[in-house]
Amino acid sequence: MTAPAIDQALGFTIPTRHARGRIVRIGPVLDDILAAHAYPPVIERLLASALVLAALLGSTLKNAQGQLTLQAQTENGVVSLLVADYRNGDLRGYAKFDADRLAELGPDPSLFGLFGKGYLAITFDQAVTGERYQGIVPLEGESLAAAAEHYFFQSEQIPSVLHIATRHEPGQGCIAAGLLLQHLPEGEVGRERLHVRHDHPEWEHVQTLAVTLQDQELTDTGLALPDILWRLFHEEDEIRVTDPVDMAKGCRCDVAHIRDVIGRFPASERAHMADEHGVISVDCAFCSRLFPILADSFDQA
Ligand SMILES: [Zn+2]
Repeated sequence: MTAPAIDQALGFTIPTRHARGRIVRIGPVLDDILAAHAYPPVIERLLASALVLAALLGSTLKNAQGQLTLQAQTENGVVSLLVADYRNGDLRGYAKFDADRLAELGPDPSLFGLFGKGYLAITFDQAVTGERYQGIVPLEGESLAAAAEHYFFQSEQIPSVLHIATRHEPGQGCIAAGLLLQHLPEGEVGRERLHVRHDHPEWEHVQTLAVTLQDQELTDTGLALPDILWRLFHEEDEIRVTDPVDMAKGCRCDVAHIRDVIGRFPASERAHMADEHGVISVDCAFCSRLFPILADSFDQA
C-alpha cells in the first residue's frame, strides 16, 4: 500500500487523448501557511484555493527554479489583494481584506461578493531563460478555478478543466486539493492548435471523465493521488504519472532586502517610520515574520 499523498503534486499525461494534467493536495503545509495569519475561515478557504491553483500551475513550469505568481486585485472589493506564489515546491501567500465588510457577507460569499469587479494576473517567470509572461483575466465565474479556466481558454487557447476543493473541520487541519487537466496542442510548431477545429472528441471524452470528480474525493486524505487518477481514467489505454513533487511552506523574505528597501527612503522619512526607540518594524506580508530595523543604522544620505 502506498501512503496517502499529502503536501504533494503529481503530474500525468494521457497520451492517446493528448491530455496532460496535475493533481495537488496540501494539508500540513497549508496549516503552516495559514497559522502565520489568523484569517477568518472565508479568507482561509480563499487563500487555500489560491495556493492550490499556484501549485497546479507552478508545477507545470519546465524549470524547477521558475516561479508562478497569482495575484487577484480589485479597486473596491472586500478583498483588495490576494497573492499566492510557487517556486520549486515552495508555496506562500497572503490576503488583504476589509474585516467589517467581510463579516457582513456571511459564511459563504460568492467570488463577486468578495472581489467585486477585479482581475486575476497569472505570471510565469522562467528562471533560466529570464522569460516572463503574464496573463490577465477578469475575476469572473463562481471561483478562482473558473477564472483560471477562462484564462487558459481565452489567453492560451488551451481547453482546461480546473477543480479545486477545500475542507476545514473544527479541531482538524485544513485540506485543499485540486485537479488540472489540459488539452495539449498537437505538435508545438507549424500546426494549428487543436481548439481551432470545432470537434475534438478525445478531449471531450477525458473532460467528461474529469468533471465527475467530487470535492470529497479530492480532499479525502485516505485516497492517494494516483488512486484518484485511476478512478477517473482507468479505462484509458495508458496514464503516465510523473514523480511527485513535495510541497513546502517557503518564504524568501530576508533582512538584507528589507534594509535595502528602507534604505532608499530619505533619512527624515525613516525617522518618521521609527517608534520611540528608533526602531522601524517591518513585517513580511507572506509569513508575518517581523524585522526590527534601527532607523539610525543607515549611512546619512
Ligand atoms: Zn516572509
